[in-house]
Amino acid sequence: MKMTIEEDLCIGCGSCADIYPKVFKMVDGYAKVMLSPVPAEDQEAALDAERSCPVSAISHNDT
Ligand code: SF4
Repeated sequence: MKMTIEEDLCIGCGSCADIYPKVFKMVDGYAKVMLSPVPAEDQEAALDAERSCPVSAISHNDT
């Protein structure tokens, strides 16, 4: 599974990085994906982070 952030939508709230710091990091006030693909054992955490985004800037694909 790969995570994508629509950077134009990110408001820099930090929620995704709080929930799943292994993949999401705040860089210059905005979230970046630092690890791709997501390890299988962490997929639920990645989806929690996606759901936490208040502006739906995070998406994923299963390839
Ligand atoms: S949860 Fe969404 S808005 Fe907040 S930092 Fe992450 S991508 Fe940006």
